Amino acid sequence: MAHDIHVIGGGLAGSEAAWQLARRGLRVRLSEMRGGGDSTPAHQGDGLAELVCSNSFRSDDSEKNAVGLLHHEMRALDSLVMRAGEVARVPAGSAMAVDRDVFSAAVERELGALPNVEIVRERIDALPAAGPAIVATGPLTAATLASSIAQATGQDSLAFFDAIAPIVHRDSIDMDTCWMAARWDKGGKDYINCPLNREQYEAFVQGLLDGEKTEFREWEANTPYFEGCMPIEVMASRGPETLRFGPMKPVGLDNPHWATAEHPNGRWPYAVVQLRQDNKLGTLWNMVGFQTKLKHAEQVRLFRTIPGLENAEFARLGGLHRNTFLNSPMVLDRQLRLKGAENVRFAGQITGCEGYVESAAVGLMAGIMAAAEIGGREWNSPPRTTALGALLAHITGDAEAETYQPMNINFGLFPPLSEVRKKVRKEAYTDRAKADLARWVSERSVEPA
Ligand SMILES: Cc1cc2nc3c(=O)[nH]c(=O)nc-3n(C[C@H](O)[C@H](O)[C@H](O)COP(=O)(O)OP(=O)(O)OC[C@H]3O[C@@H](n4cnc5c(N)ncnc54)[C@H](O)[C@@H]3O)c2cc1C
Repeated sequence: MAHDIHVIGGGLAGSEAAWQLARRGLRVRLSEMRGGGDSTPAHQGDGLAELVCSNSFRSDDSEKNAVGLLHHEMRALDSLVMRAGEVARVPAGSAMAVDRDVFSAAVERELGALPNVEIVRERIDALPAAGPAIVATGPLTAATLASSIAQATGQDSLAFFDAIAPIVHRDSIDMDTCWMAARWDKGGKDYINCPLNREQYEAFVQGLLDGEKTEFREWEANTPYFEGCMPIEVMASRGPETLRFGPMKPVGLDNPHWATAEHPNGRWPYAVVQLRQDNKLGTLWNMVGFQTKLKHAEQVRLFRTIPGLENAEFARLGGLHRNTFLNSPMVLDRQLRLKGAENVRFAGQITGCEGYVESAAVGLMAGIMAAAEIGGREWNSPPRTTALGALLAHITGDAEAETYQPMNINFGLFPPLSEVRKKVRKEAYTDRAKADLARWVSERSVEPA
């Protein structure tokens, strides 16, 4: 069948993109390498949209939870992943969990029923030079295609491993304990600094050494530790002082909260944890150099012993995995197109979003955008105040490119509503998002499927 657009990768994002395109009348070739003699280290079968690990789409609460809100918005846009998820749903309290086999079969059945979708079991080894395409080959993109992508973007713009430092919501940091400064007062006061005394530092290092860690999967065992992004607990194991000479270095950082008549500018703490702004909105701050494989619960417990972070709320916790992803803020435009090769869009986890639902959501947007472009219709991005719009804005330019790492949807990506009481802020975010999404849809920014 001749096609209008080539979708590469039949995972969560590629299947969703193909659906959105086909429902708008376009002829889609969907190439999936599994079932054609290839696989990835994590997939078990050949089914489209296979869930490689957990069977959960996380919270389905659209009143108070950002991923629940994303479910709501995707349903409003006739998402295939949400539709198949309902068919495959299993009881999971307020979460949305699915039977993975039923889910994958439902995705395949729905797509297969569309006469304008051709599902081809083939591996694609190079970025299409011409013609509209969406690349959604995921965190385990086959090596040959990955090289072709790296060639087009430059080696430094495609990562093969992530090294995720925890990210903290700015409004949960205690600024009566922390202070803003740069080392030696050079440049602007750009960092939030958390001071530790000797006792606190030693207890913290011990906590890192004792804390339970996540093991690498067998096929991740050769994950390289680059000196610049070594897990913090590995650094701690090299000696008690290593962190004080590394990411927790206190030199040049006078703590004004410790000012005395003798030291009017304050004193250097024994050790310092620094946080750097992570998004343009200034709502999210990453813990510099704190990439870690500690288990998530352990991270929360231990990082809340850091002075100033006792009540920290984490938008993202640290991790280290094999993960092919682009420096999207640098190489993609606002419509997910590769700068310099605009016939190619990227979607799913390869854009640096993280999670089944987020990957599908980016696939959904890539599909709608490509359909609008091919049809010669104007495209207006979903408002920044919606979960879709916040995620899209983050990955296509609002995240700091220098420190770009995979990101889940969370309220820190939304334009802040600081005037609203904290207790009801989540509801305020979701109310605003729902109203703005409804307006966006009704203004026919997206033509109905
Ligand atoms: C081991 C692992 C566990 C994870 N666990 C979870 C979890 O529990 N919960 C969660 O929310 N997220 C999890 N994720 C993160 C992520 O959300 C999923 O990987 C998600 O499936 C990403 O969706 P995607 O569509 O971008 O990629 P995928 O779902 O991986 O789809 C990409 C598809 O492209 C195909 N492909 C690759 N290269 C080519 C090629 N050259 N030609 C043709 N086809 C190709 C692959 O076979 C695959 O089917 C996990 C990731 C990994 C790697």
